[in-house]
Amino acid sequence: MPKKRIAVIDREICNPKMTGYACKKACPVNRSGEDCITISEDEKPNIDESLCIGCGICVKKCSRKAISVVNLPEELEEMPIHRYGPNLFTLYGLPLPKQNAVIGLIGPNGVGKSTVMNILSGNLKPNTGVFDNVPWDQIIENFKGTELQNYLERLAVSSIKSSYKPQHVDLIPRHYSGKARRLLEKNDERKDLQKLAKRLNAEELLDKEIKNLSGGELQLFAIMGAVLRKCDFYFFDEPSSYLDVRQRLLIAKEIRKLAKESVVLAIEHDLAIADYLADYVHILYGKPSVFGIVSKPYGVRIGINTYLEGYIREENVRFRDEALRFSQTAKSFKKSKLFMKFSAYEKNFPGFHLNTEAGEIYRGEIIGILGPNAIGKSTFIKILAGEIKPQRRTAVQEGAPEKMQLSYKPQRLNLKKDEEHSSVGDYITENAGKAAVAKTENKRILDYLGIGKLLDREMSSLSGGELQAVMICTALFKKHDMLLLDEPSAFLDVEQRLRVAKTLHHHAENREIPVFVVDHDLQFIDVLADRIMVFSGESGVKGRAAAPCMLRDGMNRFLKELDVTFRRDPQTGRPRANKPDSQKDKEQKEKGIYY
Ligand code: SF4
Repeated sequence: MPKKRIAVIDREICNPKMTGYACKKACPVNRSGEDCITISEDEKPNIDESLCIGCGICVKKCSRKAISVVNLPEELEEMPIHRYGPNLFTLYGLPLPKQNAVIGLIGPNGVGKSTVMNILSGNLKPNTGVFDNVPWDQIIENFKGTELQNYLERLAVSSIKSSYKPQHVDLIPRHYSGKARRLLEKNDERKDLQKLAKRLNAEELLDKEIKNLSGGELQLFAIMGAVLRKCDFYFFDEPSSYLDVRQRLLIAKEIRKLAKESVVLAIEHDLAIADYLADYVHILYGKPSVFGIVSKPYGVRIGINTYLEGYIREENVRFRDEALRFSQTAKSFKKSKLFMKFSAYEKNFPGFHLNTEAGEIYRGEIIGILGPNAIGKSTFIKILAGEIKPQRRTAVQEGAPEKMQLSYKPQRLNLKKDEEHSSVGDYITENAGKAAVAKTENKRILDYLGIGKLLDREMSSLSGGELQAVMICTALFKKHDMLLLDEPSAFLDVEQRLRVAKTLHHHAENREIPVFVVDHDLQFIDVLADRIMVFSGESGVKGRAAAPCMLRDGMNRFLKELDVTFRRDPQTGRPRANKPDSQKDKEQKEKGIYY
């Protein structure tokens, strides 16, 4: 049986003027007289997959790295659900829209979640890989006898009303203005706005202008907007980004309620939250921007573990060479060279008061910062770096460089107007210095985080995950004595999060600098941090920072405040939230072991 193969050309990157059609000239099938690679009307190449022998020569010859030729897994028997056009992205399989259950999608970015969402919400008619207008009955015929048949029949007569929470909530202020309440009231088909805002502790945001909302408030605004509509189908694209742990658990509860009467799909890269939110998961895998495959549904624990394993036993498919592993036990921390000692200090802003305990910071360590939003976490670091002066007492900074340079990646991924049209390469150079993109070590990091091939792309064309990776690289490449990353995990998939964690470990150790990471993904902090700082208090009113402590003690202190317990999955070592009042939850609380 001939191998199933797809060839994809990224038409944005492809530039024949620069490459002189090196692909076509080198293709052995063309050289033998057949037309495997031809030139299409837009003057870019086309690859005939039925003639292609999969030698990969064109992939190597293309200096723009615009071509991918991939042999599909032999086990894949299905025909495509959708293909955007010749030599473009193809999706195989669809999740099963089940009633009374939240369906989670887990997998890397770029393998089809938007396509899935657009098909199931009725915005995209699946073409089964045929580019002529395929009639619905022919499409449905392909799914006869499957659980999808009924859903597709409903789609065919356009009777699905859908609600969608977008991924990139930073873009909301570009499209909407005015008070949050006014817009939410327009969507409030349930007449539940005030009560919902109360349940989510989000009443304060209702009377703010949309342009003044913080990242977390934008996320809550978007989730409320989606939840308040009465629909048949809900899709939540990364509902946890920018929310603190308490807020993540609250929105998970609200999303779960919707499943009683509608189909609910959520894509979530914080696996502890995905675990808490979903009943079943489908694993999405494939090659980003080339093809994506949707697995069969699995129970949430088995599904997440299978995803981490990289091997679907039932379907006999290995989609990653290595399993993603988490430590079974909390890490210990060995003190290295002291970087600085700081005293306890205080800082007052109008309406907000921060006080902090004294502590020490070591060279090469990564300190994870946990706590609610708007509690003074960034202020604390800026005081350490000398960018903000504390009240009354000065923070004693024994041992620290006299003029300390702090490199800071903010939580929100906002671009200035003039940055939107910069290329990625220019943006990094502009913000991190001339040599930033040219240094060998930096090139390695750019490639490792998937940015190397995007250097010519316009900043405004990047996805949330790509933009996050660019911002992280920029912060890493700037000159600094201390690095602070505020929620670097937002919009990154699980594999990218682990790559960022590895990069930061390497950076902190090699440069012997301290790195502070504020994040709400406990699994990410677990992998990343050597020690923890816990912030507590009342968001926007008063904050208190405890001194850095060992990872396990910090996690315990933090989760005790939230009254939530976590256990480790025996198979993968990943942290899993216990269901409130479950036996495990009660046992752990009795022993005071929250983590
Ligand atoms: Fe030609 Fe296919 Fe080989 Fe590319 S991979 S050079 S298109 S035969």
